[in-house]
Amino acid sequence: MKCQDAELLIQNFINDDLTGEPLSNFIRHIDNCHSCYEEMETSYLLKEALSRLENGETFDLHGELTNKLTHMRECIEVHKILTIIRRAISITAAILLVMSSLYLLFTFYLL
Ligand SMILES: [Zn+2]
Repeated sequence: MKCQDAELLIQNFINDDLTGEPLSNFIRHIDNCHSCYEEMETSYLLKEALSRLENGETFDLHGELTNKLTHMRECIEVHKILTIIRRAISITAAILLVMSSLYLLFTFYLL
């Protein structure tokens, strides 16, 4: 993912509108790109601070952002595991289909 693409996704990330592959690519990019991380952090802090000030709440935005990123990384790991399981099930189903087709073919020709 290029910086230009990551910058376009910052608002989606902050609003929790990113999922799956785009979320994974975004997190991987900001983990490796200090400039995009800072831009995301600034946008997040600004948005949250403004909304909290309106509500008169106290807050630890850096801690919350760290928690949000940790949670998103965990979601990505779960998504990866589910993708592997889904692929394994698809492969198993394909193998069973081929084996049952071969079985039917052989029994048809042998009988
Ligand atoms: Zn970048």
